[in-house]
Amino acid sequence: MNGNKQSVCTDCQGQGYLELLLGGTERCPRCEGTGASGEQPAAARRTEAIH
Ligand SMILES: [Zn+2]
Repeated sequence: MNGNKQSVCTDCQGQGYLELLLGGTERCPRCEGTGASGEQPAAARRTEAIH
């Protein structure tokens, strides 16, 4: 067993998309397609740091 405890989006199981019952896939709105859970690295949130 690995001690690898990564935060994975529970909605899409870390895939970044949801499988639709009608067929096809949809980008997961919860993780915005990243597959990660709510906690994002600080580096990813510096995009709009414009003063
Ligand atoms: Zn997701």
